[in-house]
Amino acid sequence: MKFADLHLHTSFSDGTFSPEELTGHGQRLGFAALALTDHDSVEGCARMAAACGAAGMEFITGTELTAEHNDIELHLLGYFVDPQNEKLLADLVRFQAVRQNRIREMAARLNALNIPLEAESVFALANCKSPGRPHVARAMVKAGLCKSLDEAFARYLKKGRPAWVPKAKMSALEGIELIHQAGGLAVMAHPGLNRTDNVIPVLVEAGLNGIECFHTKHSTATSERYLEMADKFHLLVTGGSDCHGFSKGKPLIGTVKLPYVHVEKLKEAVGRKTVAPLNR
Ligand code: AMP
Ligand code: FE
Ligand code: FE
Ligand code: ZN
Repeated sequence: MKFADLHLHTSFSDGTFSPEELTGHGQRLGFAALALTDHDSVEGCARMAAACGAAGMEFITGTELTAEHNDIELHLLGYFVDPQNEKLLADLVRFQAVRQNRIREMAARLNALNIPLEAESVFALANCKSPGRPHVARAMVKAGLCKSLDEAFARYLKKGRPAWVPKAKMSALEGIELIHQAGGLAVMAHPGLNRTDNVIPVLVEAGLNGIECFHTKHSTATSERYLEMADKFHLLVTGGSDCHGFSKGKPLIGTVKLPYVHVEKLKEAVGRKTVAPLNR
């Protein structure tokens, strides 16, 4: 049997592995195909494609966008997007600026609580254009302001805690269109983690192509529920570990093994729908 992991993060967003390290883990675990889905970035894809090529694995370009529909947050995975697409790159730069400003605001809120964390120390640690709360948590632990990442989230960074700052999000319909115009397939990420079941029909209407049925945090029953939904709405099925390296405890790559037949269906679907340059 051949398997894939289609949900992975590197240090180009809030993961801790380089594209080469992540590829090495994927190769050791025997994967046939990997996709990189950094938050609001496709920057790591060229290096990951090269590393996968050298390791004899298939690579799918991807990204993970934060979106909302009717005030419900959801994450959209874009697969096979053209990493040179101008509109995609321009929008990603905007989302990255939102992330950077949000880090400044979180630091200001911590400072107001007499917690001396500087935004610059978060940026230095993150060393990427797409920083997020895990970087704030790591910077707090590094500066001795918290004992663990979990403590940083639980006390300060979780929704509703004093340093939590809402993130401006694009509409899910815009997100689907953005992915499509870049030649990609739009997939709803980890539906079991968001309260998104009711919005699935609307997104299908807007052109949603697939749904992430298999995810580290989906129980068997949850995966089965979304497999049934994929069947009902004629959606592609994807799955991945959502590995962030060491930024969420231990590396998750290997916990989800998507049967390769689903990769074949993705490739068929993208071949049917677009002539844009793909998978580079
Ligand atoms: P952001 O995009 O900045 O809102 O950060 C979201 C990231 O933080 C996602 O990758 C989450 O999985 C991660 N995250 C959320 N809660 C925790 C937690 N308790 N510990 C570590 N990471 C978390
Ligand atoms: Fe993340
Ligand atoms: Fe996500
Ligand atoms: Zn993710």
